[in-house]
Amino acid sequence: MLLIHCPFCGPRSEIEFSYGGPATAPRPQDPAQISDADWVDWLTVPENRIGPVPERWCHSKGCGAWLTLRRDTRTHEILEVQHGA
Ligand SMILES: [Zn+2]
Repeated sequence: MLLIHCPFCGPRSEIEFSYGGPATAPRPQDPAQISDADWVDWLTVPENRIGPVPERWCHSKGCGAWLTLRRDTRTHEILEVQHGA
């Protein structure tokens, strides 16, 4: 169980948050110009990196803020939390 430090609400259990995916994959500039397969890959195939990765989380059962966490996938340690970004 992750304990996520919301900058507005303080430390909260991960069950109050919704995972928003990796924060590393930039959205295609013009989705209409890429193939359906590439679009599906971008939407559904996350990177599976080892080590610290930036992730988007929404405090959906709290203040509603979108946060960017830097979480180590080996230990689940949350190294940094930023609002937005
Ligand atoms: Zn919050």
